Amino acid sequence: MGRDTPLLFDPPSDVLLRLYDGLLSAYGEQPWWPADTPFEVVVGAVLTQNAAWTNVEKAIDRLKARGLLSLRAILDCESAALADAIRPSGYFNVKATRLRAVCEFLHAQGGLEVFASWGQDAQRAALLGVKGIGPETADDILLYALDRPVFVIDAYTRRLLQRHGLVAGGETYEALRGGFERALPADVHLYQQYHALIVMHAKHVCRKSPLCARCALAATCPGAG
Ligand code: SF4
Repeated sequence: MGRDTPLLFDPPSDVLLRLYDGLLSAYGEQPWWPADTPFEVVVGAVLTQNAAWTNVEKAIDRLKARGLLSLRAILDCESAALADAIRPSGYFNVKATRLRAVCEFLHAQGGLEVFASWGQDAQRAALLGVKGIGPETADDILLYALDRPVFVIDAYTRRLLQRHGLVAGGETYEALRGGFERALPADVHLYQQYHALIVMHAKHVCRKSPLCARCALAATCPGAG
């Protein structure tokens, strides 16, 4: 295989479903995404870039307390005030610009409710065209705000797949997303739960230094130490 040949990811369905069942048995159904409205999910998807969720929650609480958690309020807000409100999430100046860009985009389409009625492929392409919105953020929005069957890939997903010997490590985001979506039924609840379970598992057990001795997947994991 040449150096530039993209690495493929085409796992058998039963392997991914077994992994899901193992995670679900270990942790149960996850209350994810924690948000009161789809718009709050959009905001959280931007704020969670390079940030711990606890800090995102603080930023969202500040937006709520200052009356800024709406499309109109964010568009009308001074940049400095918006950046200050989301300060706990880190990179607050960059994120304020990104939040405003998403809000301007949604406003131009007639609002989130109108955008929600678009076809999934058009939604994804349009979100990826918004400055500062990469595939993970776009797919967070699609899956958790708009209930679209799009599989979210993050660093936790890559780690779990690698430790289970399912990837080499250099696969692209799209290769991994496509592999999950080809192997699994297009089921929004399944995708929402699967991603949430991976996050739970990677944060608490399959950490950078994995806690294999207490892992429910250890019997079938080739990376178990
Ligand atoms: S056995 Fe270890 S490496 Fe494998 S999933 Fe569990 S914690 Fe991760």
